[in-house]
Amino acid sequence: MASCQGTKDISTKSIYNPTKYNNTITADELKTHLYIVASDSMEGRQTGSAGQKRAGNYLISQYQKDKIPFPKGAQNYYQPVPASFLNARKNQNLSDSENIWAYIEGTEKPDEVVVISAHYDHVGTKNDAIFNGADDDGSGTVALLEIAQAFQLAKKEGHGPKRSILFLHVTAEEHGLHGSRYYIENPLFPIKNTVANINIDMIGRRDEAHAASNNYVYLIGADRLSSELDEICKTVNEKYVQLNLDYKYNALNDPNNFYRRSDHYNFAALGIPSVFIFNGTHADYHRKTDTPDKIEYDALTKRTQLTFNIAWELANRENRIVVDKK
Ligand SMILES: [Zn+2]
Repeated sequence: MASCQGTKDISTKSIYNPTKYNNTITADELKTHLYIVASDSMEGRQTGSAGQKRAGNYLISQYQKDKIPFPKGAQNYYQPVPASFLNARKNQNLSDSENIWAYIEGTEKPDEVVVISAHYDHVGTKNDAIFNGADDDGSGTVALLEIAQAFQLAKKEGHGPKRSILFLHVTAEEHGLHGSRYYIENPLFPIKNTVANINIDMIGRRDEAHAASNNYVYLIGADRLSSELDEICKTVNEKYVQLNLDYKYNALNDPNNFYRRSDHYNFAALGIPSVFIFNGTHADYHRKTDTPDKIEYDALTKRTQLTFNIAWELANRENRIVVDKK
């Protein structure tokens, strides 16, 4: 019953087929962005550093180029996150930093907001070595740019999302999910109007368990609060992307506890249905060798497209997804 309902919603005539826009998400564009975001000149994007600010400037320049505005109610593309907040729990000597946001307003239900997030900070430099963080989380960072561009083109052609979409590049994930926590404690849009969070953190590589094929992705958390969110992930994947969805890390007793280890957790803790899209860890995880030449751009493209299609469905389906679990 439940899954039939999901399929029916997706094929309803009120939802324009997203394939055309999905196809604007390309390996070439992702690669171009990632070679910049994860370049040595960004110096590992340490929270509050000049390198992180340069990376942020690049993101903003791309939104401006695509005429994607900062959110309604904001002064600009930055949500300042003060050092006092970043160092409040434990003094990590972090400087003032910023979340970066962009926004596409919904055409029918603008007050309901889908948040797509990825952290754009990384761990900086150690002993003069630059930690480029191409997979972690340059991959999610550039995915957001491509997804936003696809939605913006759809809007321009009269197929804008019915609900609003907030593209949220959070800071200070590596130091304890601080940027996303700052957002949920200082939300621009009311938490009760926040429909869902899709969080991307590392989608450009493969792990050892998938040595034979990169055509997979781990989904974590999708079914914890909303059966519909999980159904949507599965249905749009089958219809548009055909990745193997791996639920191994979604197990409640998984010892890695990835469910609590990236930014979606701050949203989920407030009861917002959230899904974490992830490729697992690999030998270059949190090492200076996490560089853009090692990214598998075909896999990055498909996982970005999956995220786009989940967001498209969440933003366009007739009824907002409901929380039916605790
Ligand atoms: Zn990360």
